[in-house]
Order: sequence, then C-alpha cells, then structure tokens
Amino acid sequence: MSGPGGVGKGTLVKRLVASDPRLWLSRSWTTRPPRPGEDETAYEFVDHETFVRKRDSGGLLEWAEFLGRLYGTPLPDPPPDADVLLEIDVQGAEQVRRVYPDAVVVLVLAPSREAQAERLRCRGDDEEHVARRLQVAELEERAGRLLADHVVVNDDVDRAVAELAQIVEAHRRASGRKLVK
Ligand code: 5GP
Repeated sequence: MSGPGGVGKGTLVKRLVASDPRLWLSRSWTTRPPRPGEDETAYEFVDHETFVRKRDSGGLLEWAEFLGRLYGTPLPDPPPDADVLLEIDVQGAEQVRRVYPDAVVVLVLAPSREAQAERLRCRGDDEEHVARRLQVAELEERAGRLLADHVVVNDDVDRAVAELAQIVEAHRRASGRKLVK
C-alpha cells in the first residue's frame, strides 16, 4: 500500500488488518523521531547509525529517504500462509516490485489536495512541512499512478476499506496460492 503522506494510508491499513487476520503488517524502521502523541509501536524508531548498519548488513527489503529521514522495511518474517502488507512510499514500492514482480501495488489518494493538507496539519506538522509534503505528494502521485495495479481514493474510510478488502480477495483468488486447506 503506497501513496503520498496525508492520504490516510495508516488508518486504512489499521482497519484492513483488524478485519483480516491473514494479513501480516510489516513494521518499518525509521530515523524520524516520533510525533507528539504517536503510538510508539508505529515504527521501530532508531538513530541514523543503527539504520545504516541494518541497511548495510542486508537487513532491509527496501529503504528510502523521505524529506531527509530514512525509512525501511526489515526482511519480512511472516507466519505461514500470511499475506504480507507493507505501508511504504512510492520509491519503496518500486524497489519491492523489482524484488517481487508479482507484488500488488495499491496507490491510495486523498479525495482532494485540501483534504490532504488538512490531515497533515491535524497531525501536528507545521506549515512549512505541510507545504513540502504536498510538493512531494504531487511527484509521488505521478510516479505511483505509473506503478500501481489499483488506485483507491480515500473519500470515505468504510468504503475505501471495503474496496481494499475486495482487492486483497481478488488477488488471493487469482493467485490460488492462499486457499485455506
Ligand atoms: P511518515 O513520516 O508520515 O510516517 O511517513 C512518510 C512516508 O514514508 C509515508 O509515505 C510512509 O508510507 C513512508 N514509509 C513508511 N515506512 C516506510 C518504509 O519502510 N519504506 C518506505 N520506502 N517508505 C516508508
């Protein structure tokens, strides 16, 4: 699951995972400090040196720099029969696609720029940061549209989660890999 900041990916991912026990959500590493009030389990918050050591020892499936901070997915270790879900930026999704060509990429978009800006403000980002994130968002949306198998607009959380659940089920059926015995 990919898409620009402020589109509500995190909310959708949480809801989707809560409703589907076969999804296994990866926990990313980041050098970004926690935001005020942010759940301390949202990421593995690490310093730059620790991140670089992990990356350089081959411990990351993908990684990216986003607005001066590093983010990366540790090599996944899901339980058997689980489907791995990553919530990552578009640069990361491009890398995952190279490693796993059949990875399904869903681009999540906000219904409008205003809604996206509002969401960024609500979580405590200052105006300068909001403006930078919106600039990056334009580029991410363009690159994401070229990469994505599906585009989901987060206009209504219930509706968007239902659409995501349908996408997951459709790919399970198509792959035939994950049928419960
Ligand atoms: P935020 O600082 O808002 O939590 O995350 C910034 C961006 O980094 C978001 O687009 C988020 O999806 C992305 N991100 C989070 N974890 C990872 C990761 O492990 N790898 C990559 N490439 N991007 C990530």
